[in-house]
Amino acid sequence: MTCRLRLLISSGPTREPLDPVRFVSNYSTGTMGACLAREALRRGHRVTMVSGPTELLPPRGARVIRVERTREMQQALRREMPRTDVLIMAAAVSDFEPARASRQKLPRRGTLRLALRATPDVVGSLPRRRGQLVVGFALESAEGVARAKQKLKAKRLDLVVGQQMNGTSPFGPNQVKAFFVNAAGMVTRLGKVSKPRLARVLLDEIEQLWYGGVRLNEEVCPTC
Ligand code: C5P
Repeated sequence: MTCRLRLLISSGPTREPLDPVRFVSNYSTGTMGACLAREALRRGHRVTMVSGPTELLPPRGARVIRVERTREMQQALRREMPRTDVLIMAAAVSDFEPARASRQKLPRRGTLRLALRATPDVVGSLPRRRGQLVVGFALESAEGVARAKQKLKAKRLDLVVGQQMNGTSPFGPNQVKAFFVNAAGMVTRLGKVSKPRLARVLLDEIEQLWYGGVRLNEEVCPTC
């Protein structure tokens, strides 16, 4: 019996308000995060999800913290990190937020110029404990591997799941063209995979990294 890991999974999109009724976001549905949570629970791990707005029901047995804005996701993850073994940053964090959100509903006019600024780098800004594993995702239109390697370094990740855009939406139930880049820069190409399969392969990789091939007994594991 392996020890149970405490997994923290960020999932879904974040939304950045433009005014009280409108927001900037993306098409993420939270499917990848839900597949990961389901697979982790099936293996007996403990799962906390920090989820942006999504219509998907979270898997039974997952503890769910709901957030809306990027900064709320950052705060929730920051609070949970000390009790976490593995963070999987599967959320499609909104990369931009309006530089100024209006308190009033903006009236419809001929032209509205929006000034957007980059949101804070959530995963790169989180406090880390020694030994924690941090896995990020990288969705790229082109030059996938090179950009994924840059993100691995810039965000201090242990593993990046790269996804290459190939015409179809990477969100929702669609298959994705995926690869892993590990901390040593080694690339493993998975080809086109369904999200439940990607979740299984990723959990295999995480368990391999965590246990290092050694099967721990629950009694001797310091995190159980
Ligand atoms: O959007 P991008 O491909 O750069 O995201 C790479 C990783 O960084 C993902 O795991 C995503 O969840 C995370 N991210 C973040 N903060 C942001 C944008 C993305 O932590 N502002």
